[in-house]
Amino acid sequence: MAVIFDGKSLAESIKRKIMEEAANLPRKPGLAAILVGDDPASRLYVNNKEKDCAACGFFSRRFDLPATVSEEELLGRIDRINANAAIDGILVQLPLPASISERRIVEAIAPEKDVDAFHPLNVGRMVYGESPVWPCTPSGIAAMLDAYQIPIDGKVCVMVGRSDIVGKPMGLLLLQRNGTVIYCHRHTRDLAAMTRQADILIVAAGCPGLITSDMVKADAVVIDVAMNRDPTTGIFTGDVCFDEVKEKAACITPVPGGVGPMTRAMLMRNVLTLAKLHMGLAQP
Ligand code: ADP
Repeated sequence: MAVIFDGKSLAESIKRKIMEEAANLPRKPGLAAILVGDDPASRLYVNNKEKDCAACGFFSRRFDLPATVSEEELLGRIDRINANAAIDGILVQLPLPASISERRIVEAIAPEKDVDAFHPLNVGRMVYGESPVWPCTPSGIAAMLDAYQIPIDGKVCVMVGRSDIVGKPMGLLLLQRNGTVIYCHRHTRDLAAMTRQADILIVAAGCPGLITSDMVKADAVVIDVAMNRDPTTGIFTGDVCFDEVKEKAACITPVPGGVGPMTRAMLMRNVLTLAKLHMGLAQP
């Protein structure tokens, strides 16, 4: 039976270290979170991010804007936050209403305050391996692999999903750490033939039950990023058939309690990293 990664405890211990480090800085690290509209999942995410800031001793500002807000108003708001020296990181909770261009909004965030590393300049820096921060889910997964002393170097890493937020940067990060990376997506012809090669299998497709045990190599490391909410029961499940795959894998993440808490902890780590850069206490 596989080792079950305890993302929750690990995230707690990371946040404690962040809090201790933040307490010794000349000022509090600051995060601004912008929520547009009233999607319950987005609201929950932003609430959690505020809670995490409080737990880490950070300064946080929250902007709740109606779904009817215009792109110009939102851009104006971002300009003002860009100019606010108390704020080190800015996040705009995605998705935005269809009337607003996500690309225009993301590109308006000052790159040095782009806490999610979604700005094209930072995406470019990631490709060169030079970005000070990485998107939170991929860096949370890397932190978890490191904490459990799982090497990436030379391993076959299969990434199922190629979203801009999770899959693409995850593959880049694994490549940066000398993994041999295979990207799978909707057009992949024989998904099982790909996943069976994986020493490290990371799944972020949003398809419950997608990965069954016959698709996993014995003693693989299996990371399930998905959070699929069953509309009738309200229960969250991943993309991996946990009960059967845990009998075959060497290690596996639970859903919930695996990648999710690590993602939250990495947002705090990114705010701290940007704050230290802004305070002249770290080199880019
Ligand atoms: P997330 O934000 O969690 O990464 P998205 O919904 O934005 O998720 O992206 C889902 C990704 O999963 C897409 O890249 C898509 O090609 C991939 N995907 C969806 N279904 C399958 C499938 N059945 N097999 C392989 N890849 C899939």
